Amino acid sequence: MSTVFELTTPTVEIAGRSERYPVRRIYCVGRNYAEHAREMGHDPDRDPPFFFMKPADAVVASGNNVHYPPATSNFHFEMELVVAIGKSGAKISQDRANDHIWGYGVGIDFTRRDLQQKAKDMGRPWDAGKGFDESAPISALHSAADIGHPQAGRIWLEVNGEIKQDSDIAKLIWSVPEVIEHLSGLFTLEPGDLIYTGTPAGVGPVAAGDRVTGGVDGVDTIAIGVV
Ligand code: MN
Repeated sequence: MSTVFELTTPTVEIAGRSERYPVRRIYCVGRNYAEHAREMGHDPDRDPPFFFMKPADAVVASGNNVHYPPATSNFHFEMELVVAIGKSGAKISQDRANDHIWGYGVGIDFTRRDLQQKAKDMGRPWDAGKGFDESAPISALHSAADIGHPQAGRIWLEVNGEIKQDSDIAKLIWSVPEVIEHLSGLFTLEPGDLIYTGTPAGVGPVAAGDRVTGGVDGVDTIAIGVV
Protein backbone atom coordinates (compact mmCIF):
# COMPACT_ATOMS: atom_id res chain seq x y z
CA MET A 1 0.00 0.00 0.00
CA SER A 2 1.35 3.40 -0.87
CA THR A 3 0.78 6.51 1.20
CA VAL A 4 0.90 10.16 0.19
CA PHE A 5 3.99 10.65 2.33
CA GLU A 6 6.26 8.52 4.48
CA LEU A 7 6.23 8.42 8.26
CA THR A 8 9.09 7.08 10.34
CA THR A 9 8.34 4.85 13.32
CA PRO A 10 10.16 6.19 16.37
CA THR A 11 12.61 3.68 17.82
CA VAL A 12 14.73 3.23 20.94
CA GLU A 13 18.20 1.71 21.21
CA ILE A 14 18.49 -1.78 22.68
CA ALA A 15 21.64 -2.27 24.75
CA GLY A 16 24.13 -4.54 23.04
CA ARG A 17 22.09 -5.10 19.88
CA SER A 18 21.90 -3.52 16.45
CA GLU A 19 18.11 -4.06 16.34
CA ARG A 20 16.01 -1.28 17.82
CA TYR A 21 12.73 -1.25 19.76
CA PRO A 22 9.90 0.39 17.78
CA VAL A 23 7.62 2.68 19.79
CA ARG A 24 3.84 2.43 19.34
CA ARG A 25 2.50 4.34 22.34
CA ILE A 26 3.84 5.99 25.48
CA TYR A 27 1.73 5.61 28.62
CA CYS A 28 2.62 7.41 31.85
CA VAL A 29 1.46 6.81 35.43
CA GLY A 30 0.56 9.82 37.59
CA ARG A 31 1.52 10.15 41.27
CA ASN A 32 3.08 6.74 41.88
CA TYR A 33 5.40 7.63 44.77
CA ALA A 34 3.83 8.85 48.04
CA GLU A 35 6.29 11.69 48.69
CA HIS A 36 5.77 13.02 45.16
CA ALA A 37 1.97 12.82 45.52
CA ARG A 38 2.28 14.83 48.75
CA GLU A 39 4.55 17.45 47.17
CA MET A 40 1.91 17.91 44.46
CA GLY A 41 -0.80 18.37 47.11
CA HIS A 42 -2.53 14.98 47.02
CA ASP A 43 -3.26 12.13 49.42
CA PRO A 44 -1.19 9.17 48.16
CA ASP A 45 -3.26 6.60 50.05
CA ARG A 46 -6.59 7.42 48.45
CA ASP A 47 -6.00 7.71 44.72
CA PRO A 48 -6.10 4.69 42.38
CA PRO A 49 -3.51 4.78 39.58
CA PHE A 50 -4.31 7.04 36.66
CA PHE A 51 -2.70 7.40 33.26
CA PHE A 52 -1.89 9.91 30.58
CA MET A 53 -0.07 9.60 27.26
CA LYS A 54 2.70 11.15 25.25
CA PRO A 55 3.11 10.83 21.49
CA ALA A 56 5.51 8.07 20.40
CA ASP A 57 7.75 10.58 18.62
CA ALA A 58 8.42 12.41 21.91
CA VAL A 59 11.27 9.95 22.62
CA VAL A 60 14.81 11.39 22.68
CA ALA A 61 17.83 9.14 23.08
CA SER A 62 20.15 9.61 26.04
CA GLY A 63 23.20 11.64 25.10
CA ASN A 64 21.20 14.20 23.14
CA ASN A 65 19.84 17.66 23.89
CA VAL A 66 16.22 18.74 24.24
CA HIS A 67 15.11 22.24 23.38
CA TYR A 68 13.58 24.33 26.15
CA PRO A 69 9.95 24.09 25.00
CA PRO A 70 7.71 26.99 24.01
CA ALA A 71 4.83 28.38 26.06
CA THR A 72 6.27 27.57 29.49
CA SER A 73 8.33 29.22 32.19
CA ASN A 74 8.33 26.19 34.50
CA PHE A 75 9.90 23.24 32.64
CA HIS A 76 10.26 20.29 35.07
CA PHE A 77 12.17 16.98 35.12
CA GLU A 78 10.64 13.72 36.41
CA MET A 79 12.96 10.69 36.59
CA GLU A 80 11.15 7.40 35.98
CA LEU A 81 11.58 3.65 35.51
CA VAL A 82 10.28 2.73 32.03
CA VAL A 83 8.68 -0.61 31.14
CA ALA A 84 8.72 -1.84 27.52
CA ILE A 85 5.86 -4.15 26.53
CA GLY A 86 6.71 -7.15 24.35
CA LYS A 87 3.48 -9.16 24.15
CA SER A 88 -0.09 -8.15 23.33
CA GLY A 89 -2.75 -8.36 26.00
CA ALA A 90 -5.87 -6.91 27.61
CA LYS A 91 -7.19 -7.44 31.16
CA ILE A 92 -3.79 -8.81 32.19
CA SER A 93 -3.76 -9.98 35.82
CA GLN A 94 -0.80 -8.84 37.88
CA ASP A 95 0.45 -12.42 38.28
CA ARG A 96 0.74 -12.69 34.47
CA ALA A 97 2.10 -9.19 33.92
CA ASN A 98 5.77 -10.12 33.67
CA ASP A 99 4.97 -12.35 30.66
CA HIS A 100 4.04 -9.17 28.75
CA ILE A 101 7.20 -7.22 29.60
CA TRP A 102 9.97 -7.11 26.99
CA GLY A 103 12.36 -5.13 29.16
CA TYR A 104 13.19 -1.94 31.00
CA GLY A 105 14.87 1.42 30.61
CA VAL A 106 14.96 4.75 32.40
CA GLY A 107 13.35 7.93 31.17
CA ILE A 108 12.53 11.53 31.97
CA ASP A 109 8.87 12.63 31.90
CA PHE A 110 9.54 16.27 31.02
CA THR A 111 6.61 18.45 32.03
CA ARG A 112 5.47 22.01 31.34
CA ARG A 113 4.35 22.31 34.97
CA ASP A 114 2.64 25.66 34.52
CA LEU A 115 0.51 24.36 31.64
CA GLN A 116 -0.25 21.14 33.57
CA GLN A 117 -1.32 23.17 36.63
CA LYS A 118 -3.52 25.43 34.52
CA ALA A 119 -5.16 22.34 32.97
CA LYS A 120 -5.78 20.87 36.44
CA ASP A 121 -7.27 24.16 37.66
CA MET A 122 -9.59 24.39 34.66
CA GLY A 123 -10.51 20.69 34.49
CA ARG A 124 -8.89 20.37 31.07
CA PRO A 125 -6.71 17.60 29.55
CA TRP A 126 -2.98 17.45 30.35
CA ASP A 127 -1.71 17.04 26.78
CA ALA A 128 -0.13 20.48 26.47
CA GLY A 129 1.61 20.04 29.83
CA LYS A 130 2.83 16.50 29.21
CA GLY A 131 2.63 15.39 25.58
CA PHE A 132 4.81 17.93 23.79
CA ASP A 133 7.80 17.54 21.44
CA GLU A 134 10.94 15.95 22.96
CA SER A 135 9.14 15.34 26.28
CA ALA A 136 10.19 11.70 26.69
CA PRO A 137 13.98 11.19 26.84
CA ILE A 138 14.88 7.54 27.34
CA SER A 139 17.95 5.35 27.90
CA ALA A 140 18.74 2.22 25.95
CA LEU A 141 16.38 -0.63 26.76
CA HIS A 142 17.51 -3.85 28.45
CA SER A 143 15.61 -7.09 28.01
CA ALA A 144 14.09 -8.81 31.02
CA ALA A 145 16.03 -11.86 29.82
CA ASP A 146 19.21 -9.87 30.52
CA ILE A 147 18.37 -7.94 33.72
CA GLY A 148 15.32 -9.70 35.15
CA HIS A 149 12.39 -7.72 36.58
CA PRO A 150 13.82 -5.04 38.89
CA GLN A 151 11.69 -4.53 42.01
CA ALA A 152 14.12 -2.44 44.04
CA GLY A 153 16.99 -0.12 43.27
CA ARG A 154 17.94 3.51 43.74
CA ILE A 155 16.23 5.98 41.38
CA TRP A 156 18.00 9.32 41.21
CA LEU A 157 18.35 12.49 39.16
CA GLU A 158 20.90 15.30 39.20
CA VAL A 159 20.88 18.72 37.56
CA ASN A 160 24.40 19.99 36.84
CA GLY A 161 25.73 17.37 39.27
CA GLU A 162 23.44 18.42 42.14
CA ILE A 163 21.14 15.69 43.45
CA LYS A 164 17.44 16.52 43.08
CA GLN A 165 15.62 13.19 43.23
CA ASP A 166 16.83 10.23 45.31
CA SER A 167 14.50 7.36 46.10
CA ASP A 168 14.00 3.66 45.35
CA ILE A 169 11.71 1.93 42.86
CA ALA A 170 10.64 -0.33 45.76
CA LYS A 171 8.62 2.72 46.90
CA LEU A 172 6.30 2.67 43.88
CA ILE A 173 2.74 2.86 45.27
CA TRP A 174 1.52 0.68 42.40
CA SER A 175 4.09 -1.95 41.41
CA VAL A 176 4.84 -2.62 37.75
CA PRO A 177 2.56 -5.72 37.67
CA GLU A 178 -0.23 -3.72 39.34
CA VAL A 179 0.25 -0.88 36.84
CA ILE A 180 -0.02 -3.35 33.96
CA GLU A 181 -3.18 -4.88 35.45
CA HIS A 182 -4.86 -1.47 35.75
CA LEU A 183 -3.60 -0.09 32.42
CA SER A 184 -4.55 -3.20 30.45
CA GLY A 185 -8.07 -2.92 31.89
CA LEU A 186 -8.35 0.36 30.00
CA PHE A 187 -6.30 -0.28 26.84
CA THR A 188 -5.07 -3.34 24.95
CA LEU A 189 -1.32 -3.31 25.42
CA GLU A 190 0.81 -4.14 22.39
CA PRO A 191 4.50 -4.68 21.67
CA GLY A 192 6.04 -1.25 21.26
CA ASP A 193 4.16 0.29 24.18
CA LEU A 194 6.31 2.07 26.77
CA ILE A 195 5.09 2.78 30.31
CA TYR A 196 6.72 5.59 32.31
CA THR A 197 5.93 4.37 35.82
CA GLY A 198 5.93 7.64 37.80
CA THR A 199 8.45 9.84 39.56
CA PRO A 200 9.63 10.16 43.16
CA ALA A 201 9.70 13.41 45.12
CA GLY A 202 12.03 16.29 44.30
CA VAL A 203 10.74 17.42 40.91
CA GLY A 204 11.84 20.88 39.86
CA PRO A 205 12.68 23.22 37.01
CA VAL A 206 15.53 23.24 34.51
CA ALA A 207 16.83 26.04 32.31
CA ALA A 208 18.67 26.20 29.01
CA GLY A 209 22.28 25.22 29.62
CA ASP A 210 21.45 22.67 32.30
CA ARG A 211 22.62 19.06 32.14
CA VAL A 212 20.23 16.44 33.54
CA THR A 213 21.57 13.02 34.52
CA GLY A 214 19.95 10.16 36.35
CA GLY A 215 19.25 6.49 36.48
CA VAL A 216 17.87 3.45 38.20
CA ASP A 217 20.42 1.08 39.74
CA GLY A 218 20.28 -2.26 37.98
CA VAL A 219 18.72 -0.77 34.82
CA ASP A 220 20.65 2.10 33.18
CA THR A 221 21.50 5.79 33.30
CA ILE A 222 20.47 8.76 31.16
CA ALA A 223 22.07 12.11 30.32
CA ILE A 224 20.25 14.95 28.57
CA GLY A 225 21.23 18.56 27.91
CA VAL A 226 18.69 21.39 27.82
CA VAL A 227 19.38 23.97 25.10
MN1 MN B 1 5.69 11.47 35.53
